[in-house]
Amino acid sequence: MMVERLQTFGDNQLCKQVLQALSEMGFEEPSPIQEEAIPLALEGLDIIGQAQTGTGKTAAFGIPIIEKANPKFQAVQALIVTPTRELAIQVAEEIAKIGKYRHVKLLPIYGGQPIDRQIRALRMGYQVVVGTPGRLLDHLNRGTLRLQRVKTVVLDEADEMLDMGFIDDIESLLKEVPAEGRQVMLFSATMPPGIRKLAQTYMTNPRSVSVSRDELTVPQIEQVFYETRESIKVDALCRIIDLEDIGQGIIFCRTKRGVDELVGALEARGYFAGALHGDLSQQQRDRVMKRFRDGKTELLIATDVAARGLDINNVTHVLNFDIPQDPVSYVHRIGRTGRVGRKGVAITLISPKEYRQLRLIENLIKTRIRRQELPSLADISERQAENLKNQLLKLIQSNRLGNYRAIVGELLEEYDSTDVAAAALKFAVEGVNAEERLEDKEQEGIHFQNTGAAEGMVRFFMNIGRVQQIRPQDIIRWIADESGIPGNIIGMINIYDKFTFVEVPTEYASRVLSCMHKAMIKGRRVNIEPAKAR
Ligand code: ADP
Ligand code: MG
Repeated sequence: MMVERLQTFGDNQLCKQVLQALSEMGFEEPSPIQEEAIPLALEGLDIIGQAQTGTGKTAAFGIPIIEKANPKFQAVQALIVTPTRELAIQVAEEIAKIGKYRHVKLLPIYGGQPIDRQIRALRMGYQVVVGTPGRLLDHLNRGTLRLQRVKTVVLDEADEMLDMGFIDDIESLLKEVPAEGRQVMLFSATMPPGIRKLAQTYMTNPRSVSVSRDELTVPQIEQVFYETRESIKVDALCRIIDLEDIGQGIIFCRTKRGVDELVGALEARGYFAGALHGDLSQQQRDRVMKRFRDGKTELLIATDVAARGLDINNVTHVLNFDIPQDPVSYVHRIGRTGRVGRKGVAITLISPKEYRQLRLIENLIKTRIRRQELPSLADISERQAENLKNQLLKLIQSNRLGNYRAIVGELLEEYDSTDVAAAALKFAVEGVNAEERLEDKEQEGIHFQNTGAAEGMVRFFMNIGRVQQIRPQDIIRWIADESGIPGNIIGMINIYDKFTFVEVPTEYASRVLSCMHKAMIKGRRVNIEPAKAR
């Protein structure tokens, strides 16, 4: 069956009440996924939708659900399953807006809310139920939720639900919906085997709707990265926050602990941020989200899992304090800003070792992320010093130094007071293993001085040469491919029997080194390192 795309909301497929609601919501024209999915869904076809966050998937399934619901019939006609409570609420709110004038009623059902209240609500007769798998199943088993009249089932963020181990619950729910005339719509950012299997078992001749990889990144998002060292990362972040005009920003960390540490470090510097991660109680999460939504906190610090799928309007900046391990997460993260029709900025901090991950992300989104220079390092260390001084002053003024004074007293009999104080400070900042850590730092900020290269260039040594039948064009293509720098900026190349020297511009040196580290050429693991000057 050929189904026309939906060119505009007004082209005769949608009823007046829905059009009125959409116009009040400020939806002027359908997003690409809506253009494709809405007509298919109106036909009752099964759909597999794949598109990044922020592309308007909710309305893509919500509009057809509202169109097809019968508000006079007091039974659940559509069931939407989402991985988290926040998403359930958000999806229910959005679709309730779409259904406002058709008087279709939506009920969100999720864990953490008193079950009695939900049981009473379910008796009221809602046409659409949106919920998390566990709680939905609970109601099903109690007999308080009946799915015999359900025509449409939506699995939103299906891959996420699978990751969270909800597969059995989802199957139990699907089995309760009469297969005759059942429409299943499945939305998922990725298509792991588990999802395919689910589709094979419960869907009939599903149509695929996707936003292709080329369109993966929302063009209104400005993407930049800063190279910084671990040791000054927090201060670098603060400088960036100060410089950028951040209305509301989400800062991503890799781990829950990272989130907590960063919140602490920012607070110590006078920045206020809310934390969002899986260890918080539902109440705490709600409070954090509310403060952020109301604009009371301007920074939200989150892990990927905690932030996934949340539609928070007006996010101006996404800051990747830790670069995501998985390139797909990058797309999810930056999808939090620049939502349909709005501008956004995505900023990523990377250490010199992380160019490889950056490169993988650039490959996925088919876009080069622009490098920006950090506000001067001198500025940052000055700021760091200022912070330290303030913290020390607070301690001195608190006047509760007790035992520590005695220790200092003894040391002062033998040592200079400035040295003692400086050592204490160093100990406080760098810890017991100060010396070892210093070595780490030196390795981390790789130094490229003195490789004997031309001005503005760094010379690399590679243990591959004429014996392996290497030609200059091989070297150029290899470096350009692996590190993503343009081939024409690579400088002098000297190939000897067993090794090769190649020069690249200094600003790309860390990138090349990191991307080529342990790379393979002609089936051989090749080592690359800064050359030693003669
Ligand atoms: P997804 O589920 O794909 O991540 P959402 O459905 O949460 O995306 O939509 C993201 C945002 O875009 C929401 O704030 C939504 O209200 C808005 N939106 C969706 N469709 C349109 C549209 N056609 N025009 C304007 N805004 C839209
Ligand atoms: Mg969504």
